[in-house]
Amino acid sequence: MARILITSALPYINGVKHLGNLVGSQLPSDVFARYRRARGDEVLFICATDEHGTPAELAAAAAGEPVADYCARLWQVQKDLADGFRLSFDHFGRSSSPENHRLTQHFAGRLADAGLIAEVMEKQVYSPADGRFLPDRYITGTCPNCGYPRARGDQCENCTKQLDPTDLIEPRSAISGSTDLEVRETKHLYLRQSLMRDDLRRWIGTKTDWPVLSTSIALKWLDDGDGLQDRGITRDLDWGIPVRRGSEDWPGMEGKVFYVWFDAPIEYIGATAEWAHARGLGEEGWQRWWRADLGAADVRYLEFMGKDNVPFHTLSFPATILGANQDGREDWKLVDYIKSFNYLNYEGGKFSTSEGRGVFMDQALAILPADYWRWWLMSNVPEGSDSNFTWESFQSGVNKDLADVLGNFVSRVTKFAAARLGATVPAGTYGPAEEAVVEELSRRLAAFEAAMDAIELRKASQELRAIWVAGNEYLQAAAPWTAIKTDPERAAAIVRFSLNLIRLYAVLSQPFVPDASAAMLDALGVSEAHWPTDVAAALDALPTGAAFSVPEVLFAKVDDARREGFEAQFAGGKA
Ligand SMILES: [Zn+2]
Repeated sequence: MARILITSALPYINGVKHLGNLVGSQLPSDVFARYRRARGDEVLFICATDEHGTPAELAAAAAGEPVADYCARLWQVQKDLADGFRLSFDHFGRSSSPENHRLTQHFAGRLADAGLIAEVMEKQVYSPADGRFLPDRYITGTCPNCGYPRARGDQCENCTKQLDPTDLIEPRSAISGSTDLEVRETKHLYLRQSLMRDDLRRWIGTKTDWPVLSTSIALKWLDDGDGLQDRGITRDLDWGIPVRRGSEDWPGMEGKVFYVWFDAPIEYIGATAEWAHARGLGEEGWQRWWRADLGAADVRYLEFMGKDNVPFHTLSFPATILGANQDGREDWKLVDYIKSFNYLNYEGGKFSTSEGRGVFMDQALAILPADYWRWWLMSNVPEGSDSNFTWESFQSGVNKDLADVLGNFVSRVTKFAAARLGATVPAGTYGPAEEAVVEELSRRLAAFEAAMDAIELRKASQELRAIWVAGNEYLQAAAPWTAIKTDPERAAAIVRFSLNLIRLYAVLSQPFVPDASAAMLDALGVSEAHWPTDVAAALDALPTGAAFSVPEVLFAKVDDARREGFEAQFAGGKA
């Protein structure tokens, strides 16, 4: 039994994510995790919210809540949506957890011991009225480039010019509005990533099996311009993980926290520790997944993410891991495979939170079942290039793939069988038609598994659809409704084979449409069904005489009026 560790990129805490976010990491990682579990592997599937940084602080302030309360509330919102989409995380953690505090401080200490941390004096804007430094978005003023009066310390919204807080004309605090600002010196820690370039290049060079999207982005960042730069890992903020050198104080760094980009990927490990502690598994419980020297040597670790996250996961986080491993006293696991995705657009443009353009996760679940979204998103997953959500395409996917093919097959078979032969699995001997389907499905199953094993999920959904189509074509040709008039035994054999096909479809479709899969098995009275090793045996699995029921409509079609309503509802431009 293989051991597979799967992480999904961590959604940021400040609000509900849209379908493009969902399809870029959480959903495909879930489909793969479900598949590996079905194949009998020992799988650990981890995700968490990414909770630190100024956007969380400002969103909390805008909501009039303490930031810790705000994050706790939004974590629950995101957790409920993940459950609604049937994302089967073994643990959905929080980057603000005590486990991540300890691990982040531990890694910082290990990196300092390895000579990979520099202490740097910097000039930052300080507000005496607020009693604090004002990094990034905490300061606003007039843009020196275009004269826009509400430019932020990191960027002008109007002309998009990247800014430093000290560039702004007539700067003021975004918190109090105070213009009594001064520039003070403050000390920060830098991760000396530039010293790790050769190690990183050597490591990425071994990843010949990665998608080109992953390696090309990594090499571009490694070598662009002056190459990989050292990067600040601390901030003058209150909300975050206090800077400590392992379990020791860090002289001169009192009152500072680690910068969110440093602690967020460490939360993959932190969330695994949260999972182990919640189950009473102790330190060994998570270390056997993350420490090659403590039992994780046989773990295969896969990360799923959108392409914007690739630089951090191919360079910064590996630099942290490689640095911590440098003296050989600890052996933390590096990622084995990075599956990255392009972007999903909405009706030819971008999703927009501020304009209400596109479908967000809460809205999606409010209007249609999770399976519909899961199926369309996976059969259009942006693997080779960006893909485009349109309501026409969505309507077509739901109606033609789910309702007309899979749903229709289940409905026709169970209704006919129950009405004409009674609601139990009949006896019947298979003939050449069934043998031909077994042969075709054996071939198609191998292709489906090959695509899943390679995490080519769009191709895998096409193979799965072809498997559904084969059943429909068989049923249409075998025509039990005709056979029953002249040859009831033949009709019984067709029905028995078709009921077994429903069982097989439920097993194979479970990673993609888990609710429909459960409904199919439930209708067949099957409590447990394993991944087929032999198609002929799988299509002979239901015992003769076993009761079944006709399930509710698995997939309702989306009609044109409804589609047009959705198009108008999510077009954006709302106040
Ligand atoms: Zn400007």
